[in-house]
Amino acid sequence: MKTHVIGDGIAAMMLASMADRIPQHEISILHPEGAPMARDHMLGFWNTEGLEFAVDCSRASWSKWSIITNTKTSVMHSEKHAYHIMHKADFVQNARNKAEEHGVSFVEQKASKTNKEALTFDSRPPRASPNAMLQHFVGQEIEVDKAVFDASTAILMDFRVDQSHGMHFVYLLPYSPTQALVESTLFSTDVLDREYYTNTIIDYLHDHYGASIQRVIHEEQGVIPMGTLSPHDTNIPGLGANAGAIRPASGYTFVFIHQQIQRAVRRAQQGKPLRFKRPHKAVDVWMDSVLLTVLRNWPQQGPQLFERMAASLTGDEFVRFMSGQANWRLRMKVVMAMPKLPFIKGVSKHLFQRPQKVVS
Ligand SMILES: Cc1cc2nc3c(=O)[nH]c(=O)nc-3n(C[C@H](O)[C@H](O)[C@H](O)COP(=O)(O)OP(=O)(O)OC[C@H]3O[C@@H](n4cnc5c(N)ncnc54)[C@H](O)[C@@H]3O)c2cc1C
Repeated sequence: MKTHVIGDGIAAMMLASMADRIPQHEISILHPEGAPMARDHMLGFWNTEGLEFAVDCSRASWSKWSIITNTKTSVMHSEKHAYHIMHKADFVQNARNKAEEHGVSFVEQKASKTNKEALTFDSRPPRASPNAMLQHFVGQEIEVDKAVFDASTAILMDFRVDQSHGMHFVYLLPYSPTQALVESTLFSTDVLDREYYTNTIIDYLHDHYGASIQRVIHEEQGVIPMGTLSPHDTNIPGLGANAGAIRPASGYTFVFIHQQIQRAVRRAQQGKPLRFKRPHKAVDVWMDSVLLTVLRNWPQQGPQLFERMAASLTGDEFVRFMSGQANWRLRMKVVMAMPKLPFIKGVSKHLFQRPQKVVS
């Protein structure tokens, strides 16, 4: 069966690279009309089962990672599930090479020539409501003037930055004592001027490392909508982020795209129709939406929430929770670690808030 995938990002290319495992589907990847120019950026993920193909593209990895607040530094570690970072461009190129070996074709999409006979999936980005919570950030790969970074430990969240515009943290992946990817990241409804994030990076390096930037090697920026999103086009079934793969409260997507595609491939191998479902469990989506309600209304609680979560979980438990592999015991452990009052307020507010309209 002819199968068209609109879009050539992470999900489309991951699917294309597995074309040999999908029986009776002849896959074409359509570069969408009006698509923005493809830009490279770094993609982080924990090495969990089945991700060896991504580990092969990874640039660096850390078996220790930390969460830092004004009062505490929590360090977690896992030898089995290290945190990896790779260039999106490397992953996409690698996937494309495999896809071409499997006979996948790559074509320009012409809306006027859409093939109505073909099975079509849409991986263009989903749509968010006007007031949606966003994860927005600017990241710079930098070289500093002195050897100050501890290259053994990735900093997932350092909250010792301005908290006046929403929950705000620095993400710092040290490649060496002098080189790192440093991102200023906020969870809020409003994107800020680029200078806000770049000044945060400069001040953070000065205040906490006594270091200055000598060279910016690469810059990236992102705005990831969080919470409930709507399909890009309600008439076309989705794939990837456009089929619910973004984890609502963390923005992590790569590992969930993998889970979504793995499940779809397994169903297709059993003779069932190819279909891409939201990869998250309903209970995880509900817990995430309560957390987002708390962060939207009481962002000053953010550092304490993540501090408590980090302090109560082992590295392996943290990875399972972040990668959608939590069982009930682990979910309860997370709930028990949280400060109760903000969550009780969050649950009541979440239950009574009106659903958001989506921008088309
Ligand atoms: C800077 C940055 C850093 C990130 N870091 C991480 C990370 O560390 N870990 C993680 O898990 N996730 C991360 N993400 C999120 C992750 O990259 C995305 O969620 C992921 O790419 C989604 O894959 P996808 O295939 O669904 O969509 P995409 O890879 O975004 O592909 C979408 C497709 O739609 C096309 N398209 C886009 N807009 C339009 C348009 N207006 N009209 C037509 N076509 C369009 C694109 O050209 C592309 O072909 C990051 C995102 C950014 C921007």
